[in-house]
Amino acid sequence: MTETAAPPRLSTDILISGGGVAGLTAAAAFGAAGFTTICVDPEPPVTAETDAGADMRTTAFLHPSRAVLERAGLWARLAPHAAPLQVMRIIDAGGARPEARIVRDFDAADISDEPFGWNFPNWLLRREMVARLAEIPQVDFRPGVATVGLLTRESGAEVRLSDGTLVTAKLVIGADGRNSFVREAAGIGTKTTHYGQKALVCAVTHPSPHGNVSTEVHRTGGPFTLVPLPDRDGKPSSAIVWMERGPEAERLAALDPADFEREMTERSTGVLGPLTLATRRALWPMITQIACRFSAERVALIAEAAHVIPPIGAQGLNMSLADLRCLLDLAEKDPAHLGGAAMLASYNRRRWPEVKAREVGIDFLNRASMVAPRPLRDLRAAALGALYAFKPVRKTLMRAGLGMR
Ligand SMILES: Cc1cc2nc3c(=O)[nH]c(=O)nc-3n(C[C@H](O)[C@H](O)[C@H](O)COP(=O)(O)OP(=O)(O)OC[C@H]3O[C@@H](n4cnc5c(N)ncnc54)[C@H](O)[C@@H]3O)c2cc1C
Repeated sequence: MTETAAPPRLSTDILISGGGVAGLTAAAAFGAAGFTTICVDPEPPVTAETDAGADMRTTAFLHPSRAVLERAGLWARLAPHAAPLQVMRIIDAGGARPEARIVRDFDAADISDEPFGWNFPNWLLRREMVARLAEIPQVDFRPGVATVGLLTRESGAEVRLSDGTLVTAKLVIGADGRNSFVREAAGIGTKTTHYGQKALVCAVTHPSPHGNVSTEVHRTGGPFTLVPLPDRDGKPSSAIVWMERGPEAERLAALDPADFEREMTERSTGVLGPLTLATRRALWPMITQIACRFSAERVALIAEAAHVIPPIGAQGLNMSLADLRCLLDLAEKDPAHLGGAAMLASYNRRRWPEVKAREVGIDFLNRASMVAPRPLRDLRAAALGALYAFKPVRKTLMRAGLGMR
């Protein structure tokens, strides 16, 4: 008779399921705070732009997120690669022709001495985050391994990994994306809205400098956004997020580069001159999704495992870092009760209503940007003009967008 070897066992303060940008940041932050942390992900992170599977999105970290990145020891690594965002420009091009008819600039100088935020390519974030994790002795990052089982008790959680390892943890953080395994295993449902819309993302170069202005152009189908990037081969460069109804987004993604560049330049209203494609194009389906609650016994959900919204106003990952900040504050306040019922109830109570309110706001803005009938587009342009005209309203909107109180 052959004896089967017992599975390897590990014990840790925190198990993070998911090593996307949110999970990697969480691992660095909790590790830097002295908690033993294991982070697992079945997909090893892609850390070069030209590698297959590279995440072509960029992330604009808004002002409040910088403090979280500093706490995680990540900001010093990222700062040299940052493209600052000083002005958010909104253009309404909803008239008969795709031309700018209303242009309004929201300048960070109205509310702060610092820019609104800083933009980075996601593949670069992963490269710097993985390098940072290697410096933190409390963190054990295990790429190539998935979470496949979860059993919780009042006293702790037991997580089964795809390589057979059993991990005992005080707290399990579900950072495993919109189809989160942890969320499902904890029995937490979701509410999902489909828009029939996709976001096309790529990077471009252009003759006019962006001047650290992020530009959002509204016509139909969703916003078209140009977000500043550092120069590329000596030319000004921006990230494009172009939201359209699904079939139209697929048509655009399949166009040959010259035709695509012509249509993209027209859709941008020519604001930075002719746009030249600098990377491949990628498509992302647009949904709004919120987990019915953000915690369960010994489990906290963060980032897309908890909430997914369309990329408007750079809210997605910034909300995720606000989740992380809240969880980290609670953990540091009472480390002896890490992952306990009181801590997790408090996390849910602080984050869920805030996320829900933001989700409602983004859903409204997305639907307003999608409208096709001309009278509704005219109404949208009038609303933008009216909101902008009053400085106190303008400042309040800017502060709310940043997540400042
Ligand atoms: C086009 C676009 C542009 C955006 N721009 C911005 C922006 O400017 N600013 C901003 O704040 N946000 C932005 N967002 C949102 C932001 O990109 C997302 O919120 C963020 O990337 C999601 O990160 P995440 O780590 O939650 O999820 P993911 O990146 O999906 O990571 C989840 C990870 O979990 C892993 N995983 C899955 N199953 C398991 C399992 N069983 N066990 C372990 N691991 C598992 C996956 O392999 C994956 O690596 C944008 C989104 C889109 C679509």
